[in-house]
Amino acid sequence: MKFYKDHYDVIVIGGALAGLSAALMLADKGKDVLVLERHNLPGGLATSFVRGGVEIEATLHEMMSIGEKENRLKVGKFFDDMGVNVDWLPVPEAYHASLPGVEVTLHPGFERFAKEVDETVPGTYQKVLDLLKLCHTVYDSVNELSIHPMSKAKMLMKHEAFVKTAGYSAKEVIDTFELPQKAVDLLAPYWIYVGNPLTTLPFTIYAVLMADYIGYGSKVPKKLSHEMSLKMAERAEEMGVQIEYRQQVEKILVKDGKAYGVRTARGDEIYADYVISSAYPNKVYSSMIEPASEVPEAAVKAVNGRKISLTAFTVFLLLDKPAEELGIKDFNVFHGETMDTDKIFENYLGTGPYNYLTAICLNYANPGCTPEGTCILSITALPRPDGWKQVKAEDYDRVKHETAKATIDTMSEYYGVNLLDHALEVIIETPMTVSHYTGMWNGCVYGYMHCMDDHIVARLQTAEAEGALKHLEFSGAHSISGNGMGPAVTNGRKAAKNVLDSMAAEEATK
Ligand SMILES: Cc1cc2nc3c(=O)[nH]c(=O)nc-3n(C[C@H](O)[C@H](O)[C@H](O)COP(=O)(O)OP(=O)(O)OC[C@H]3O[C@@H](n4cnc5c(N)ncnc54)[C@H](O)[C@@H]3O)c2cc1C
Repeated sequence: MKFYKDHYDVIVIGGALAGLSAALMLADKGKDVLVLERHNLPGGLATSFVRGGVEIEATLHEMMSIGEKENRLKVGKFFDDMGVNVDWLPVPEAYHASLPGVEVTLHPGFERFAKEVDETVPGTYQKVLDLLKLCHTVYDSVNELSIHPMSKAKMLMKHEAFVKTAGYSAKEVIDTFELPQKAVDLLAPYWIYVGNPLTTLPFTIYAVLMADYIGYGSKVPKKLSHEMSLKMAERAEEMGVQIEYRQQVEKILVKDGKAYGVRTARGDEIYADYVISSAYPNKVYSSMIEPASEVPEAAVKAVNGRKISLTAFTVFLLLDKPAEELGIKDFNVFHGETMDTDKIFENYLGTGPYNYLTAICLNYANPGCTPEGTCILSITALPRPDGWKQVKAEDYDRVKHETAKATIDTMSEYYGVNLLDHALEVIIETPMTVSHYTGMWNGCVYGYMHCMDDHIVARLQTAEAEGALKHLEFSGAHSISGNGMGPAVTNGRKAAKNVLDSMAAEEATK
């Protein structure tokens, strides 16, 4: 029996959130799609693992862009439209900020958030609210413009706030509100979800982040992030998508500047009109294009001009008591020795100890996620890949354990309990784990760094000039919308839309 058809409309490399979103959208439009995933299960980073008989979330802290059942945001709506029925649970708070001289829990909802900041830094209510409202205006513009591109003149008329702030960093725009530093610090913790210091983070990205998370609150799937992956894969197959696991794509076949198929590690050559890649462009252009002479110089230049963003270091602790008995009071704590994001960014160049940690106790959003009488705490830093790349094989075990110990000690001190005394399981996830598991370039989970000349707005404008190969699209954290599970879905949809547009254009010229 033949494993593959003679030809597909589209081959998708990678069966994680981005790849599966692309596959769903293409199947919805009647296209014949093959997904090739190198693992034996879907989801990539949206996955879980089992230790001590307990299923543990591998990555997800919280998911943006879902919204409520009656008022879905774009990612939640896409899942609903595609018939991917995820059981979403609300995250009870925005975050607890544990910064020098500040301990405060902040909640979603602009007024409530501004009031809570004001209780810590009196006199700031109106300015914080105005800043959040500005974020929301920009967020609305980004959502509209990403679907309905328009001329610059029209944009200026209809999206003035977006146009006026687009060329400035988050710091520059926040500074115009003349808030005390302590209030600015309370508005900064989410920087880590995109990985740029406020000084270089485009305000547009900051605005989207704040409007989505603070304006609408976040969600987690009841059966962990793997619920999304499994349900997406199941639905895609129902819609006729062929998904093959344990199939690593080694080569993308190209002729006359146009992709026409792939070759797997098993040696199968499979043909399609289009290829969508979840593998990073760095990997694709450096080793996957066949023949190598087809690699476009302009695309290599564009990729080399981008900076690889952050990777991840996480310690998971399955603890032998309920959270509240251990002094763990919040779903999400951002714990920093400093809130100077430039200093944190500098510290993240190394292998630790890290000066800014995020601790998530999932039980507060998902009480049944561990057996009764236990809880799960994950403590994460998001270092830059550089430091970990320098670690020699013979030093890896030592560095990994030293960093984990320092991480656990910092949060033990914060909670006032020796976490190791209560640990049933300790699991350490390093940038190498991420790299081995997903094959992502340098273990990077965040794609390319956003900067003033390279973020969603700039990327939309420069995409065509980047000299990409015809009939090859990219989808993943390395694409236009950047990192995160919500953006991965959006990136997958964008890749599928590009394919559909190209198919329609070519059909029209026949
Ligand atoms: C510790 C941690 C915490 C995180 N927390 C959050 C969070 O709270 N909220 C959030 O939104 N995001 C979070 N993220 C980021 C999020 O997980 C990712 O941005 C997102 O899941 C990326 O999805 P993706 O589809 O782009 O790629 P990936 O999940 O990286 O998947 C790529 C897939 O492609 C497959 N693949 C690659 N190359 C090939 C090949 N050659 N052949 C076949 N298959 C291939 C891989 O096996 C994998 O399945 C976190 C990440 C980490 C590591």
